Amino acid sequence: MSNAFDRYENATRCAERFLSDHNLTSLPVDPVIIAKDLGIEIHAKPAKSEGASGMLLRVGEAYAIAYATHIESPGFRRFSISHELGHYLLPGHIEAVLDATGIHESLAGFRSDNVYEKEADSFAAGLLMPSKLFSVAVMNTEPGLEAIEELSSLCITSFPATAIRYVKFADYPVAVVVSTGQSIDFCAMSDAFKALRELEWLKKAHPVPRSSHTYTFNQNKKKVLEADRIEGISSIHTWFGAGPAWELIEEVIGLGAYGKTLTVLRPIIPEQDEVDEEEQEFERDLIESWTPRFHK
Ligand SMILES: [Zn+2]
Repeated sequence: MSNAFDRYENATRCAERFLSDHNLTSLPVDPVIIAKDLGIEIHAKPAKSEGASGMLLRVGEAYAIAYATHIESPGFRRFSISHELGHYLLPGHIEAVLDATGIHESLAGFRSDNVYEKEADSFAAGLLMPSKLFSVAVMNTEPGLEAIEELSSLCITSFPATAIRYVKFADYPVAVVVSTGQSIDFCAMSDAFKALRELEWLKKAHPVPRSSHTYTFNQNKKKVLEADRIEGISSIHTWFGAGPAWELIEEVIGLGAYGKTLTVLRPIIPEQDEVDEEEQEFERDLIESWTPRFHK
């Protein structure tokens, strides 16, 4: 386990501790109420730089959070506010992120490589989808896109943020991929999926496999913007180059105004009995074909 991993886990746990210290034990968690209880004002404000999600501002002794007005998704807005709360509550953040004028502009949503931004994102994930409540919720869902939809409406979180948290708690093999056009933004896998042998891990900017349903889907921008969806069968080899020769259920949904697509990949695992039976049958045939037959 690397130190980098620890620091993000710690940021998540810090948010979870805050919730239990304040007796916030049900979903959805409301970051706006939390901010108000902390005496932090919240404003909608156009961002200075393009793509910024929000800001933490210090005015004298007081603090304020601004979220970018271009953010229409309630899930992403709540994530952005939680990200700023992370900067406010995580040790060392205020000192590190505020500039000389007392302003920090954020790039929330796992889009930045900056350590403080990633910590604030991990805090936001833990605040809106705390382990204890979220893991129970995951167990009550059917695997696949349906689970992400249910969890997203339960926690009021965006599909990508929910998907990343979902694979962390799923105890079966499942992977989620977010792509833009023909390029992969990120892929996250459950531990049971990571355990499959010889997988080639999908990295940022890796091309979407040409023979996948996602590739075809992303060629039609209208489908992405209109949050259309498709489902089909592909294979582990199509997506990951190697690994077991299993088929995958590929569920694809456009993420609307984001211009991005979410793909959920679930292997169809052959029943162990089936594998055994096939092997036995194969052996029987082999023995029969090599057994000399004696005729009277
Ligand atoms: Zn930030």
